[in-house]
Amino acid sequence: MGTSDTGRLNAPGLDASLTDWLYSNATRLDTGTDLKGDVVPRMASAGLFRIGVPAALGGSGGDTIDAIASIAAVAERSLTAAFVLWGHRSLIEYLLHSPNAALRERLLPALLVGTLAGASGLSNAMKFLCGIESLQIEAAPESDSAGIWRLNGKMAWVTNLRPERFVVAAAVSYRDGRPSAILAIPNDAPGLTRSADLDLIALRGSNTAALRLENVPADADWLIHPDAQAFVPAVRPAILGLQCGLSIGLARRSLAEARRAAETPRSILGQQVEMCASELATACALLSCGIADGSLRVLPNRLFELRIRMASLVADAVNLELEASGGRGYLRDAELGFDRRWRESALIPIVTPSVVQLKSQLAEQARSAQRNAPDA
Ligand SMILES: Cc1cc2nc3c(=O)[nH]c(=O)nc-3n(C[C@H](O)[C@H](O)[C@H](O)COP(=O)(O)OP(=O)(O)OC[C@H]3O[C@@H](n4cnc5c(N)ncnc54)[C@H](O)[C@@H]3O)c2cc1C
Repeated sequence: MGTSDTGRLNAPGLDASLTDWLYSNATRLDTGTDLKGDVVPRMASAGLFRIGVPAALGGSGGDTIDAIASIAAVAERSLTAAFVLWGHRSLIEYLLHSPNAALRERLLPALLVGTLAGASGLSNAMKFLCGIESLQIEAAPESDSAGIWRLNGKMAWVTNLRPERFVVAAAVSYRDGRPSAILAIPNDAPGLTRSADLDLIALRGSNTAALRLENVPADADWLIHPDAQAFVPAVRPAILGLQCGLSIGLARRSLAEARRAAETPRSILGQQVEMCASELATACALLSCGIADGSLRVLPNRLFELRIRMASLVADAVNLELEASGGRGYLRDAELGFDRRWRESALIPIVTPSVVQLKSQLAEQARSAQRNAPDA
């Protein structure tokens, strides 16, 4: 593992005005909804949606690892903004991997400048492919128009549903036995209803809501991929990698705060803080190497283990920040931001694929390998 790989996920410089805005408004983004309309335009102005997108397609070049690094950099300041970036950037990633070039050409320009918000509703698809739940949107052919399908169903949780304009990726099942597919659905599709924002305990400025679909028309023009079973595993390293960006940024920030607070009286914590930071650096290196050489696609268990490891490092880091800050961290007027990070960190283990889901999958695979071992 070269140092260039370990360094790829180091925090890149963020646009100064975005950094200031995030520092000043992280708590408002977490606890209220009044700034939710500004998140996407601010990140678009800072060029964040172009990172890791080829220049030929309007991006600023680089690759998925650069996009992960940008999510980590934002997550150091605000997990709400970073999670919005995750949803938006995931949708862009799906389009980059889509065989439907016309759809990519139609949607990408507006996504890159932030006039269209991108949302990823693929939790259901990921759980479906692991046998945890059935697909929640069904496509039925329209009887009198060939090639038109009507979609019915729901999506319980989707982030970055900007009421102004959004497009969401969703998995749908067909009644006629063809493989389940991944579709893009625009906010103005007839029959699509967005709920009010969900009443979240944190990340309230993230435009997170539910969607209901009643006879929503769809055709091949909106197909991101005709086979979810082929598509999801192919994009999984990028999507989980982008998710790991959330953990990396949040853990780094908590460790930095813990380091600062632990400088003198609580110096006993210093060693634990450095150990946690060093384990995080190792996990970052494994992630960037595994994405760069493709091994995390071929060996998904390693990716799952990394996602579990990073979630656990976030919990350790936030706890170290608490221990190092002591009672000051518990006072609102101390304005340390600890209470926000504590709430933000609750998202990390539950976002799909959740830590429970991944641990269950790994345990099941270990049991089945044991059963199939020659001397079992
Ligand atoms: C703030 C927020 C924003 C979100 N935004 C998005 C988004 O933009 N897009 C999106 O697609 N999703 C989004 N989600 C949804 C998220 O990814 C989860 O799907 C969601 O939290 C609900 O699933 P659950 O796993 O809690 O549900 P449950 O199905 O109730 O599961 C509870 C727990 O048990 C595990 N589990 C359930 N069944 C099994 C099983 N058979 N085997 C092993 N483990 C099992 C689950 O993984 C989970 O850990 C968001 C969630 C939150 C909280």
